[in-house]
Amino acid sequence: MDGQQFLSSLPSVDEILKSMKGMEWLRAYPRRLVLLAIRKAIEASRRAILQGDIKELLLDDILAAAETEMRRFYSFSLQPVINATGIVIHTNLGRSPLPLDVLENVIKNAQGYSNLEYNLDKGKRGKRHAHVRRLLTEITGAEDGLIVNNNAAAVFVCLAALAKGKEVIVSRGELVEIGGSFRVPDVMSSSGAILREVGTTNKTHPRDYLDAINEKTGLILKVHQSNYRMMGFTESVEIEDLVSIGKKHAIPVMFDLGSGCLVDLKPYGVLTEPTVQEIVKTMCDIVTFSGDKLLGGPQGGIIVGRSKVIDIIAKNPMMRAVRIDKLTLAAIEATLMKYLDEEQAKKEIPALRMLLQDLEVIRKRAETIASRLNAGVINAAGATAGIEVQEDSSRSGGGALPEVEFRTFAVAIKPVNISTNQLETRLRHSCPPIIARIKDDTLFLDARTVQDNEIDALVNNVVSAMV
Ligand SMILES: *Cc1c(COP(=O)(O)O)cnc(C)c1O
Repeated sequence: MDGQQFLSSLPSVDEILKSMKGMEWLRAYPRRLVLLAIRKAIEASRRAILQGDIKELLLDDILAAAETEMRRFYSFSLQPVINATGIVIHTNLGRSPLPLDVLENVIKNAQGYSNLEYNLDKGKRGKRHAHVRRLLTEITGAEDGLIVNNNAAAVFVCLAALAKGKEVIVSRGELVEIGGSFRVPDVMSSSGAILREVGTTNKTHPRDYLDAINEKTGLILKVHQSNYRMMGFTESVEIEDLVSIGKKHAIPVMFDLGSGCLVDLKPYGVLTEPTVQEIVKTMCDIVTFSGDKLLGGPQGGIIVGRSKVIDIIAKNPMMRAVRIDKLTLAAIEATLMKYLDEEQAKKEIPALRMLLQDLEVIRKRAETIASRLNAGVINAAGATAGIEVQEDSSRSGGGALPEVEFRTFAVAIKPVNISTNQLETRLRHSCPPIIARIKDDTLFLDARTVQDNEIDALVNNVVSAMV
């Protein structure tokens, strides 16, 4: 056949639709998707014919291409993955996993109507923030609290409300970039506040703040360094000292705590992370932190502090633009409820549980995975690969506790028939995808972040990827 005959032998969309395959598709997929996929597959064949790329026309190839397209299009882009990186608060992997009962509270409130902005006692309009005020003040010790979409929004709205057109004093050692383009100076300028940098990169003294204060000063801001630490010849001003400077000059003081931890991590060897409660106790006017970092809840930005200052922030028009939605509110309320009992929080909030879990538990999980993998790979391939448990270290992630190494156990795999990179790619494309890390040409599956109910899928997918 020459090209022209070839082209005229292409099936029409209608012919394919009326075929057995077409009718089957129409039962499984929306009509517009079936049409789109068939057209695309025919068009691809037409192009291949014109370019002389195909020597014979196979209807089955067109059908297969259409079906692949349909399946790809009709699967969710956002999907669960297995986190085998060992990084508990992994921003790229959705940060904190939520406990089932927290999610059940979301379903309960979102399936029908709720009293989101309705005061049941008075029978009239109520406030969205009222639902978490009691828990926030009880847990943190603050006079009042608000919740917005995320901590970046919290910082932004606080700056806009307290310091628009005024100067905000910040240490040069705290002008950090958090990742995902959250940079303190940029947030500052878009909020309308004027950055007044003081000190040097490594050292800032109380004197530096005092010297910068003038009639245009609107706020003193301290920023948690989050994902970086300075070592050596460094000095920064403690929040207590900033609070007394602020008090003397009637200037509010704000601390962007970043992650914001509600449980004391000192018994676990983490000596550098202050709790929100400790910061609130210093009488700092405003403290902001994330909902989905160490707190272990949904994405959210929590603002707690003195009533008078919170009132000003609550009235700012930008609050409407960063307003939290009811799904998040339901999840945050249920997460915060657990913090009324710290032991319960540590047991039931996945991020905290994974971070603080006993090393022995991680080792046992790694051993279970390794022995099941070894058995699976030998059965399937008749050959063994280098699969063994190794002690390693992992980090919390999420811009929290960067200097703290958590000891962990990982399953180290040196594949025999494929390269380590090939194995990593295959795992990423498995269902569910498995996210691992490579070090020294070895693939590591860190058992800290693998949940027990994920082990079956993990083992199956790794075995299939290796044989
Ligand atoms: C993470 C972080 C933010 C941003 O918080 P999101 O909840 O991710 O918006 C802001 N400031 C600091 C210091 C942080 O660590």
